[in-house]
Amino acid sequence: IEEQLRKSDTLNVIGELAAGIAHEIRNPMTALKGFIQLLEEIITKEHSLYYQVITSELARIDSIINEFLILAKPHATKFQEKDLNKILKETVDLLSAQAVLHNVQFLTDMDSKLPLVFCEPNQLKKVFINIIKNAIEVMPMGGNITITTKMLEGEQVQISIQDEGSGISKEKIKKLGEPFFTTKDEGNGLGLMVSYRIINDHQGSITIESEEGRGTTFYIQLPLDLKEKKETV
Ligand code: ADP
Ligand code: MG
Repeated sequence: IEEQLRKSDTLNVIGELAAGIAHEIRNPMTALKGFIQLLEEIITKEHSLYYQVITSELARIDSIINEFLILAKPHATKFQEKDLNKILKETVDLLSAQAVLHNVQFLTDMDSKLPLVFCEPNQLKKVFINIIKNAIEVMPMGGNITITTKMLEGEQVQISIQDEGSGISKEKIKKLGEPFFTTKDEGNGLGLMVSYRIINDHQGSITIESEEGRGTTFYIQLPLDLKEKKETV
């Protein structure tokens, strides 16, 4: 529990700091992107590779800034009573093209009697997208992703997302959710940090079970209602 507390404190500080910095970087970025676009027309063939690298790296900075700005969002969003099964189904639909492309099938086992959950649906969708995307990315040869929902004791619901990928070693599990922890060439290591932050804002928790070479399951536990209702704007 102490570990979890420490993690959530750090996340709050990082979140506020990061969102502030991201905001400041956005303006000079807009200027850079604008002027570089103008350069495209006069760039010579021999320098076109430089141009490509600059634009793709700018896009990367953009994606990092956007992830960081999301961190500040939960405070300005609205909590509502929502059907999690429906949110999950929408997420699966959203990712179905990407899944087909990677030979991945979705299997679902949703509790049809799942009660509504007091949540911020768009934020939760972001969490589901992050975790399911990771699951797709960790199965280069394809496989199944199993998504379940069920009621737990103590007015809680549980969502599980299970893959048949490489699994994660014990040392690495501890690092999940740390900013910039990634094992991918194209990764930024922010998806899980954002996800932890959002679930934390819902007074829920994420636990991970993994077996190397077999696969990983992410469990998300959410209370039906918040203990202290947040100020919503
Ligand atoms: P990114 O996807 O950009 O690397 P994330 O925060 O989404 O950043 O994930 C961080 C790291 O956690 C990944 O690089 C990967 O090493 C590990 N990880 C996340 N989900 C899984 C999974 N389902 N199976 C194995 N490793 C995972
Ligand atoms: Mg990711």
